[in-house]
Amino acid sequence: MNNFGDLLTLFERYQTFAIATHVNPDGDAIGSELALYIFLRKLGKSVRILNTDQVPEKYQFLPYWENIENAQVSTDYCPEVLVIVDASSRERIGKFLSKNLIPIHAVVNIDHHITAKSFGDYNIIQTEVSSTAEIIYQFIKSTDMSIDAEEALCLYTGLMFDTGCFRYSNATPETHRIAADLIEIGDFAPDEVYCRVYEHIPLGKIHLLGKALRTLELTSDGKIAWVVVTQKMLNDTDTTLDDVEGFVNQIQAIDSVEVAICICELQDGNTKVSLRSKGRVDVAALAAEFNGGGHERASGCRINLQPTSAIKMLVESAVRRIKEI
Ligand code: 5GP
Ligand code: MN
Repeated sequence: MNNFGDLLTLFERYQTFAIATHVNPDGDAIGSELALYIFLRKLGKSVRILNTDQVPEKYQFLPYWENIENAQVSTDYCPEVLVIVDASSRERIGKFLSKNLIPIHAVVNIDHHITAKSFGDYNIIQTEVSSTAEIIYQFIKSTDMSIDAEEALCLYTGLMFDTGCFRYSNATPETHRIAADLIEIGDFAPDEVYCRVYEHIPLGKIHLLGKALRTLELTSDGKIAWVVVTQKMLNDTDTTLDDVEGFVNQIQAIDSVEVAICICELQDGNTKVSLRSKGRVDVAALAAEFNGGGHERASGCRINLQPTSAIKMLVESAVRRIKEI
């Protein structure tokens, strides 16, 4: 594992950088990418951000979001250094990019997932912190450069998102101190950031939630709950995969539920799975069984099966794990 000093030396040594993050990027992924982008540009570097998926509309207020490029099928960019943020494996940045975005000198991996793999030449993995944004905050603090207002907004958004607006157990006293520092540095109102991310949802998302909730099923003991979102539901409500975000948390809130599962049918018929736990079942381990990963209480995976077959296997695994607790 490398330290912040090694990372700064690497950043100072080279001139051209690419930044990438996981598919279906969230607030931590985008916020971390942009904060690092701003930091490297201040060092005078040439930097590009290349993602598989587009920036969700709710993050299209962050500084420089328009500079994020989509590269699903072609890129001839060959940077000296590739920095991958918030992705527990190299493949998580997407099939095309993980194969074709090859740096000349080094891959840097900055991540906080418990299932994080040391796939980089440089690895900064801190599984005890709330978010990748928190790692980047600590990194910038360790340098001679001060955090500016634009970086503060990006990092705050990352922290806010990954802690579920400071509700989850990963929001430590240190996370709150960092948030306070970012609010003081930044030129933003926290309530407006909240509103921009969570209260600008399309009406279709509410209709989609209604359809998803009608699929709700629970095991007879009420400890496992799941919902299924199909391509037809997305089409009927004019929504996308991104709009499914948060559904799993809704059903996790049911009092009897220990494990909540949200299954979303992908265009190719495979499934994207979101898992949440109240803390007694390790859903990172459950997701790892299906080549996914994440955190003990929030994880996910993709399964090459139709939703009905996938849900059967997931529930079986969850039942086994609940018996063990
Ligand atoms: P979400 O359910 O919100 O999409 O993801 C919850 C957590 O699980 C996030 O930390 C995310 O990075 C991780 N995660 C989601 N899907 C996958 C996946 O397919 N593979 C891995 N390794 N992690 C995932
Ligand atoms: Mn994260």
